[in-house]
Amino acid sequence: MKKQKIWLSPPHMGGNELKYIQNAFDTNWISQYGHNIDEFEKKLENYLGKDLQVAALSSGTAAIHLALRMLGVGKDDFVICQSFTFVATANPILYQKAIPVFVDSESLTWNLCPNALEDAVKYCLSQGRKPKAIIAVSLYGMPFMVDEILEIARKYEIPIVEDSAEALGSKYKNEFCGTFGNLSIISFNGNKIITTSGGGVLVLNSKADKKRAIYLATQAKEDKIYYSHSEIGYNYRMSNISAGIGRGQMEILEERVKQRRENHDFYQKSIAEVHNIQLFSEPNENFYSNYWLNTILVNENVFPIERIKNLFSESNIETRYLWKPMHLQPLYKGYVFFGNNLSGTIFESGLCLPSGSNLTNNCKSRISEIFHKLKV
Ligand SMILES: *Cc1c(COP(=O)(O)O)cnc(C)c1O
Repeated sequence: MKKQKIWLSPPHMGGNELKYIQNAFDTNWISQYGHNIDEFEKKLENYLGKDLQVAALSSGTAAIHLALRMLGVGKDDFVICQSFTFVATANPILYQKAIPVFVDSESLTWNLCPNALEDAVKYCLSQGRKPKAIIAVSLYGMPFMVDEILEIARKYEIPIVEDSAEALGSKYKNEFCGTFGNLSIISFNGNKIITTSGGGVLVLNSKADKKRAIYLATQAKEDKIYYSHSEIGYNYRMSNISAGIGRGQMEILEERVKQRRENHDFYQKSIAEVHNIQLFSEPNENFYSNYWLNTILVNENVFPIERIKNLFSESNIETRYLWKPMHLQPLYKGYVFFGNNLSGTIFESGLCLPSGSNLTNNCKSRISEIFHKLKV
């Protein structure tokens, strides 16, 4: 008999989601207005703290796009972007016909390398144009080197767009990811730590900014009795149904973070005795990861990645390659890149492991068995 599939990061409902969806049906607020949206935004605002404002949108990608629009990014502007990420981080730069400048990772957090970032800024300045934004990612839930990156952003007065799509619940020096950027985004796609089925939010500094973001997200319709539009808008607002799922999910967010961190402890024990495989972990006590996904680096001379991947898939366990860096993607061929290709090396020797908050003890035993086979 085929064993049940272990997924990489499946959705994990808390129990109250249907109640809030029912509430939307009962009141007939089915579309982009309603109580669930207000409550979901409020819950996130309370969670993140620092008096920040949250605008609920249709996806994390939409949130990044809106962030760039809010910062006035347009044709031929430079936008600095972490290369090691999911393609959704970078695509909105092209939506705006701007020019991405890719930056490599450092080895501690796998996010923006401060040295390479500064080289990229200097390059843009040498071309006569200051970059309009720096997109900093907290990949796999690991916060980027916040102090170092913010210092560079301040020094050159460039706004940060924080892509914390994967990092809700993670912290740097006890402050939440999603609160460091001039604008920050979080994703609630089905595979993220909590979900709204599909959705995202933009985190903003003021009520005025939130108002403008929602205006742009609803076709930039002006406050007149007829339909009046002076600039390009989008249909990017979250639906009241999705927000209902989000409300339910917010109630169990802390538990989900705890469960994902317990998965990490499990992997730490399970991999400890396997030579030539390294689990990616917090570099020091400043970093607190939600461990959205657990990832390993493998000594390819001993274990070809393909072999490990096959061992897992023979047992019906899903694993995935790490994100392939943008500077190595055909789509982004020809754009400049700063760094020594550390991200490319990580990509070639890494693997993502099942990390869902609903990973059972039975699943864990099956995964342990694979690592047992890899002991040499
Ligand atoms: C998921 C993800 C996004 C995009 O979010 P969506 O809600 O899927 O549009 C952006 N950046 C990163 C790093 C992601 O993992």
